[in-house]
Amino acid sequence: MKGGEQQGRVLQNIIKPYNVDSWGSGYFGVNERGHLCVLPDKRLDGPIIDFIQVIKEIQEQGIPLPTVIRFHDILRSQVQLLNTTFAEVISEHGYQGRFYGVYPIKVNQMREVVEEIIDAGHPFDHGLEAGSKSELLACLAYNENSASLTVLNGYKDEEYIRLALLGRKLGRKVIIVVEKFSEFDLIIRLSKEMQADPLIGIRTKLAVKGSGRWAGSSGDRAKFGLTCSEIVAGVELLRQNGMTNCLKLLHFHVGSQIPDIRIVKEAITEAGRIYVNLAQSGIAIDYFDVGGGLGVDYDGSRSTGDSSRNYTLREYAADIVSGLQQLCDETGVTHPHIVSESGRYITAHHSCVITNVISSLHQASNSCSTTVDEGEHILLTNMREAAESLNQTNCQEIFNDIQQYKDETIVAFRLGVICLVERAKVETLYWKIIGRIHIMLEKMDFIPEDLQQIEELKANQYLCNFSVFQSAADTWAISQILPIMPVMRLHEEPDVRCSLADITCDSDGKITRFIAKDGYDQTLLLHSLEPDEDYYIGLFLTGAYQDVMGDMHNLFGRLNEVHIYCDDDDPDDFYIEEVIKGTSAQQVLATMQYNPEIMARSIKKMIDHQIRQGSVLPREGVALIDFYESCLQGYTYLKM
Ligand SMILES: *Cc1c(COP(=O)(O)O)cnc(C)c1O
Repeated sequence: MKGGEQQGRVLQNIIKPYNVDSWGSGYFGVNERGHLCVLPDKRLDGPIIDFIQVIKEIQEQGIPLPTVIRFHDILRSQVQLLNTTFAEVISEHGYQGRFYGVYPIKVNQMREVVEEIIDAGHPFDHGLEAGSKSELLACLAYNENSASLTVLNGYKDEEYIRLALLGRKLGRKVIIVVEKFSEFDLIIRLSKEMQADPLIGIRTKLAVKGSGRWAGSSGDRAKFGLTCSEIVAGVELLRQNGMTNCLKLLHFHVGSQIPDIRIVKEAITEAGRIYVNLAQSGIAIDYFDVGGGLGVDYDGSRSTGDSSRNYTLREYAADIVSGLQQLCDETGVTHPHIVSESGRYITAHHSCVITNVISSLHQASNSCSTTVDEGEHILLTNMREAAESLNQTNCQEIFNDIQQYKDETIVAFRLGVICLVERAKVETLYWKIIGRIHIMLEKMDFIPEDLQQIEELKANQYLCNFSVFQSAADTWAISQILPIMPVMRLHEEPDVRCSLADITCDSDGKITRFIAKDGYDQTLLLHSLEPDEDYYIGLFLTGAYQDVMGDMHNLFGRLNEVHIYCDDDDPDDFYIEEVIKGTSAQQVLATMQYNPEIMARSIKKMIDHQIRQGSVLPREGVALIDFYESCLQGYTYLKM
C-alpha cells in the first residue's frame, strides 16, 4: 500500500509561512487534513507519517506530552546521505582514497541513536568518535565492525590510553589523537608496557579561524591541538622510539556549525599542507580527518548567519576532495583516506519535541466594565476621551497620549489618588485602544517607529507544557534558532502573533526569536486556541546536542520518548518501536539527594497525626497518602 495515495495529496504550499521547505531538508510535508507529516524517503509518493496520528497513538498508550519523537528512518537516511555523497564525489573526481565517517557520540549519546547509526553505517564502515573515557567505554562495547574507525579526541589520562590499547587488542582500529604534547609520552610508555600496537593521530591547531559561535575551537588560543613546532618535535620523539609507522592520522576541527564554506576551504589548504609535508618526510600517514563542523540550516536562510550555512553537503564534500587532491597531485603524495566527524548533520533532523499549548496569556483578555462614575478621576476621563476621538489620522498622537495616561495612572494609584476599580478601567480602555490602533496599522503603507512596538504589545504569549532549559537549552544559552511550528491546522491561515513561554518559574523560560520571512521575528504566527481542542506545536531539529544537554531547572526532568519506524505496510505507515518513560518526580528528586521513601513516610506520619486528632477521616487520609505517592511516581510536566 502506498501511504501517499492512502493519506491523500500532500499540499506543500500550505506550509510556506513556517519555511518548512527550507529547513526541513525534504523530510517534512503537510497532508490534506492540514497535519504536518514526516516523509522518511523525502518522497511524496513514499510513506507519509502523520504527526497527529502519532500523537493519538502515544496518548492511547498513556504517554502524556511533552514527548520527544525520534524518527529512526531520518537518522538512517542522513547516515546514508553523508556516506553516499562523499563516495560519489570521490568517484567523480577520480580520487584515490576512500571515505570513513565517524560519529562523535557527544552529539547525542542515546544508546538507541548510536546503535541506529552503527547499523545504518555498517555497509560504509561508519565508526564512532569518543571524547572521554565513558564515551570510549560505550564505543568499544557497541561497535563490533573492525573495519570501521574509532577516533579518540579530548584530553587523556593513563586509563583512557589503556582503554584505547585494550581496543587494539580486540582487533579494532582505535586511533588515539594527540591533543596535548605530553600524551605522546604516555602512549609510548603504555604501548610498550601492554605490548600493544597503537594507532596515533595528531590534532593540529590551525591558524585559520572558524567563524560563528564555535570560532574558539581553532586559532592560536584554541584549547586543543598541537602547534607546528610540537608536531615536528612529536614526530622526532616517535622516530627515536621507532614508532613513526604508528602515526596514521592528521586531525583538525575548526568548530561546530561552520556557517561559511570559505573556512572549510582554508582549513583544507592549511592542514593539507601539513599532511603533504609529513608524507614527504616518509611517514605513511594514510588518514586525513576533517573533524566536525558540517552545518545544519536551522533557519533555512542558506546564509552565513550563525544558525545557517551557505553550502550543501555536496559542495562541502567536493571542496574537501578536490582541495586535497590538488595538493597531493602537486606534490606527488598518495591521496589519503578522508575521515569526517560529522555529528550535527547526522542527528539534528531525526528528533523533535511535541508539546501542547496550555493557555494563552494576554493582557487584554479579561476586561472590566468602563462605565462613567460620578466624580471619576481626570486620568480615566482622559483615557475614555482618547478612545472616543481615535481615528486613522490621529492614531500616533493618541498612542503617545495614552502611554502618558497609563504611566500617570500607575503613579496616582501608588499615591492612593486612584482606586483599584479606576485603575482597572484605565487598563481596559488602554488595551481596547491598542487593539483598535493595531487594526488600523494593517491599512497603513508606512508605520511610524512609535507604533511599531504595538505589534509586540499585542502579541500573545502561548504557555507551552515544556521547559526551555530541558528541551531547547541552546535557544536560551546561545540564541540558537530552532524551527517551531504547529503540527496541525496548517490549512487554516494562522492569525495570532505569539511568543512562547514555558512552565518553569524562570522569566528566561521563553522563546522570543523565530524564523521569519526575511530574518528573525520576536513573535510567531499561530492559530487562535479553540476551547475544546488541544493545540500541538513542535520544536524541530532538536536531535543534535539539545536532546542530551538539557538540565533539571525547576526539577522538570527528561521527556518521554517515542521511537518511530516507518512501515509502508501499516495503514498509518509507522509503528512505535519503543517508548522510554521520562523522568518521574521521585527520580528527579533523588538526583538532588532527596529520599522519596522518607518523604512519603514523613507525609504519612503527618496524616496519621491528623487522623488521631480527628481532623481527617481514616478513609480520606489513606486516599491523600496514595495521591502523594502517585505524584512522586508521576511525570514532572503538567497533566493537561
Ligand atoms: C563536537 C565535535 C565534533 C562534532 O561536530 P559537529 O559540528 O556536530 O559535526 C567533531 N569533532 C570534534 C573533535 C568535536 O569536538
